[in-house]
Amino acid sequence: MDSSDEGSTSRPKKPKVIIIGAGIAGIAAGESLTRMGFSDFKILEASNRTGGRIWTINVDDKGHKAELGANWIHGIERNPIYQIADQNHLLQLRHLNKTLRSRDITLTESGEQVPRKIIKEVDLKYGMLLMECDDFYQLGLPTPEENDSVGAHLDRKFEEKLDRYCEEDRKLRSLIFSQRKLMECCISGCDSLNDVSLGDFGCYEDLPGVHYTIPPGFETIIDLLKKTIPKDNILLNHQVRCIYWNQSEVNKDHYDVCVECENGKLFYADHAIVTVSVGILKVAYERMFNPPLPVEKQHAIESLGFGIVDKVMLQFDEPIVEADVHRIEFLWDDDKSTKHDLPNTWFRRIYSFQVIHDNILLGWVCGKEALYMESLTEDRIAQDCVMVLKKFLKKDDIPLPKQVIRTRWGNNANTRGSYSFLPVGSTVGDIESLSEPLGDPEKPQVLFAGEATHPSFYSTTHGALLTGYREAERISEIY
Ligand SMILES: Cc1cc2nc3c(=O)[nH]c(=O)nc-3n(C[C@H](O)[C@H](O)[C@H](O)COP(=O)(O)OP(=O)(O)OC[C@H]3O[C@@H](n4cnc5c(N)ncnc54)[C@H](O)[C@@H]3O)c2cc1C
Repeated sequence: MDSSDEGSTSRPKKPKVIIIGAGIAGIAAGESLTRMGFSDFKILEASNRTGGRIWTINVDDKGHKAELGANWIHGIERNPIYQIADQNHLLQLRHLNKTLRSRDITLTESGEQVPRKIIKEVDLKYGMLLMECDDFYQLGLPTPEENDSVGAHLDRKFEEKLDRYCEEDRKLRSLIFSQRKLMECCISGCDSLNDVSLGDFGCYEDLPGVHYTIPPGFETIIDLLKKTIPKDNILLNHQVRCIYWNQSEVNKDHYDVCVECENGKLFYADHAIVTVSVGILKVAYERMFNPPLPVEKQHAIESLGFGIVDKVMLQFDEPIVEADVHRIEFLWDDDKSTKHDLPNTWFRRIYSFQVIHDNILLGWVCGKEALYMESLTEDRIAQDCVMVLKKFLKKDDIPLPKQVIRTRWGNNANTRGSYSFLPVGSTVGDIESLSEPLGDPEKPQVLFAGEATHPSFYSTTHGALLTGYREAERISEIY
C-alpha cells in the first residue's frame, strides 16, 4: 500500500483530521473546521460526487430540477438549513415560480372524490393521535403495552374514534386513515408503523414553520457549504475500507488514527470523523474498524432502524391533471388486495402523486415495496403507475410517460437505505451510543456524525448538518 503522506516527519501544531463521507454532515464538519482555522483535513468520499443523500438533478432543458434525496427543509425556526437558504435568497425564487396549483384531490379505488370536509375531519383526529404518540416520550408516560408500536397504538385509538359512525362512514374514514399511515411510513422511513417504537417516537422534534422546497435544488446548500473548503481537501472516489485506531503499530510519526482506502491509500491523522449512514455501518462495521467497535456501539448499530424510502417521478409530454391540482391522493382498499404478491401490489404503496412541475408527477414508496420497485424496469414502472392513474382518475386516455425517474436508495452501495428511525426495542440511548466518540475522552480518535447521531433531528438534513458542526467543535475544543 502506498502512503498519501509525503515528507514531513514532525507533528503539525494543528490536528490532522480525516472526515469520512461528503454528505451534508461531512461537508458541514469540513466547513466548520475551516471556519475555526483548522485547514489540515481531508474529506474522503466513496462516490464520484458530494452531497450523499442530497442529490439534485435536471429533469429537462427548461431548468426544472428534481430531488432524488432530501426534498423539504423541515420547518423554519432554529433550522440551520432554512437559515442558509434564506440568507442566500434561495427561497425567493419560490415566489417567482409560484403556480396556481393548490388543490389536493382524494380518490377512492372506484374513482370517487372524497369531500374535503371528511378529509379534514379525519386529519384532525389523526393529528391528535400522532401528538398522543409523542406524549409517551415527552411526558415520560408508560406505554400501554410492553414493546408497543406507533402503528398498534394508532390502530387501537382510531378504532375507538370510529364507534359512532355507520358501517359505510367507518369504512371511508378507515381508508383515509390508512392512507395517512402509508404517508407516515415514508416520513418515518419504516416498512410498517408497527415497527416504530411508541415509547421513543416523541424524541424526534418537529421544528415549527412550513416545509419549503429549494427551487434551485437542495444541492445548492452543499455548494454553499463547500465554498470555503479548499478543493484539494475533498477527495472523491476514495472509499474507506478500514479505520485503525487505538493501536501503536499503525502510528506513522505518532498519529493516532490510520484510515485505509479501497484504492490502497493510507491517511494518518489525529482524529477521524465517520459520517457514513447507519445502512453502511450495519453491513460494514465488522470490517471497518480495527480494533472492533465496543459492544455498546455494535448494539446501537444493530438496534437502530434504517428504512428504504424511494421516489418515482413520471414525466409526461403534457400535463395530465387540471392546472390547479397539486396532489392526487389514493385511498387503496386493503380488502381488495392480495398481500405478499409484490409484482401485483407494490404500487399500492404509492399513496399520492404530487405535481412537482406541470408535466411531472412525484410519488413516494417505502419498505418492501420500495425494494421491489428498485428491481423493476422503468417500462414496467411506467405501465403500473399509469394503470394506477387511469383507475383513480377514471381516465382511459392517459399516455405512458416519456421518462421515468426512480431512486434506488436500498441498493445504493454508499447508503444502503434512506434514513434512520427508532424501531420497537430501541431507544434514543442507541443514538447517543452511536454518537459517542472512541478512544481517549480527552482526545478522542474516532468521532461519529451523520443524521442518525442526532438525538432529536435524526433522519433529516438539519440533523446531519448539526452533527457535523458538533464533531468539528469537539475537535476544536481540544486545541
Ligand atoms: C428519498 C429521501 C428523501 C429525503 N427527504 C428529506 C427531506 O425532505 N428533508 C430532510 O431534511 N431530509 C430528507 N432526507 C434525509 C436526508 O437526505 C439525510 O438525513 C441527510 O442527507 C444525511 O446526510 P449525512 O451526511 O448524514 O449522510 P449521507 O448523505 O449519506 O453522507 C454520507 C456519505 O458517506 C459516503 N460513504 C459511504 N460509505 C463510505 C466509505 N466507506 N468511504 C467513504 N465515503 C463513504 C456516502 O457516499 C455519502 O456521500 C431524505 C433522504 C432520502 C433518501
